[in-house]
Amino acid sequence: MPVNVVTVENVAYSYNAATAISDVSFYIEQGDYLGIVGPNGSGKSTLIKIILGILPLQTGSVSLFDTPLSGFGHWDRIGYLPQKLSALNTHFPGSVREIVEMGRRNSKKNENTQHVLDLMGIRHLAGRLIGELSYGEQQRAMLARTLVNRPELLIFDEPTTALDPETRDTFYSLTKDLNRAHGTTIVLITHDIGTIGRYARRLLYLDKKIVFAGTFQEFCASRDMTGFFGEKSQHIICHQHDVLENSK
Ligand code: ADP
Repeated sequence: MPVNVVTVENVAYSYNAATAISDVSFYIEQGDYLGIVGPNGSGKSTLIKIILGILPLQTGSVSLFDTPLSGFGHWDRIGYLPQKLSALNTHFPGSVREIVEMGRRNSKKNENTQHVLDLMGIRHLAGRLIGELSYGEQQRAMLARTLVNRPELLIFDEPTTALDPETRDTFYSLTKDLNRAHGTTIVLITHDIGTIGRYARRLLYLDKKIVFAGTFQEFCASRDMTGFFGEKSQHIICHQHDVLENSK
């Protein structure tokens, strides 16, 4: 039986009286690569923070690895890269190696630090202070920091907004490698609808409620989605996907 890495049922969340999301239900299977898209303020970060237990569950239910959120204790199975790296304190006066080591949780399946530095292409930066690095390098260091635990689920919240196009492509390719080569389940929140189809297998379009959840094939064939997005936007998403599928 496939494991559901994430199961969300009828989740709603309000900040004071303002409803951020409602009626949200979906699941993510092991090995999936899910892209979450939607306009600014559509509740994407809120949804992810609920799944990660950062915001309290107000309505509905969430399970991680088939375990209800309230009883879930294996956070080393999950890696999270938030939108703002400042949340991770990049001014901390530590070297890249130290920062990566600090990410290590008490778990038996730890990855070798050297190996994740190599994987991220930042071995040569191991001795440098994190605050001295470019944003792209800091981001790779932070990703290395989550990878030492060999997470089975990796969640990225708009990871590429501050990156130049080349670094962005490298970053996306990396997520794809982790998914395809290591079977890591990936959730990528982005507003980059032109690119997401090249990497994700499934798409969730959120606008306070779920507008669409399914595979790219389903999305591209959906007349409803043509009506909702207009042909041009649907084409932008679907064209990118076709190009990649055909080039495999
Ligand atoms: P997205 O990630 O899609 O941009 P968010 O989940 O950040 O959307 O925000 C959804 C809605 O909730 C927005 O209207 C936003 O203004 C509001 N919101 C987000 N965080 C807070 C907060 N801490 N306090 C009050 N309102 C918030």
